[in-house]
Amino acid sequence: MSIRLWIDDREVLAEPGERILEVAQRQGISIPTLCHHPALPVLGACRVCLVEVQQGKRREITTACNTLVQEGMRVATDTAEVRGHRAMNLELLRARAPEAPAVRELATQLGVARSRFRPPAQNPLPNCILCELCVRACAHLGHHALAAVGRGDKKRIGLPHNRPAEACVGCGSCLSVCPTRCILLKETATTRTIWGQTFELVRCKSCGAPVMTEAQRAHAIRTKQLPEDHDDTCELCKQSAASQRLASVVW
Ligand code: SF4
Ligand code: SF4
Repeated sequence: MSIRLWIDDREVLAEPGERILEVAQRQGISIPTLCHHPALPVLGACRVCLVEVQQGKRREITTACNTLVQEGMRVATDTAEVRGHRAMNLELLRARAPEAPAVRELATQLGVARSRFRPPAQNPLPNCILCELCVRACAHLGHHALAAVGRGDKKRIGLPHNRPAEACVGCGSCLSVCPTRCILLKETATTRTIWGQTFELVRCKSCGAPVMTEAQRAHAIRTKQLPEDHDDTCELCKQSAASQRLASVVW
């Protein structure tokens, strides 16, 4: 049975198990966020998606990304208090990631011109906002190579010492979801280096473009029992071959 709630005085219907952020987005109601990805488990790390929630007599400021909708809930996404809390959290993120365009742009949108906070004294990954999107993406793909290690000021993201180095296959998915693009990836004609490890690249047998790393392909062949020549062709060449096959059938 659907759940009825109000977001910014608009009556909306949601399904049990849905969270405020996804319901609001479906309704076209904008709630800022830096650590949310629809395909990954929620974490509530950046705390930019704060909203005001009234449930019966209880009223609280909470994160929209991980708060489940409830019958009769009233959500306000743009009060002065909500804006104030978001701005404070953006100041903290801005201190951690002063050069990240996504953080700067959101800060500008929310009227945060500067940060009163200092950047962390030691930051092995400059501009990392500890959103853990990279950790969640890597785990989602079955690699589990990354983790947040340490606490407080010393918390950082990386390949933990207690995990085998080969857990990372150099796929680069962590970088593709990183909102601040702070993960270093370097490619040459034959190699990719990421998280301090260098991987050989598989090149497309038709056009020579890089397809993936050898370690990534070996992992896919091993875990999905694929043929040995799996993914030795890039997407463009696969599409082009498929179009040619289709054209030969049509004509
Ligand atoms: S490059 Fe390594 S750490 Fe990044 S998602 Fe792929 S396996 Fe995980
Ligand atoms: S490296 Fe990027 S994705 Fe990972 S926690 Fe830091 S900001 Fe988030």
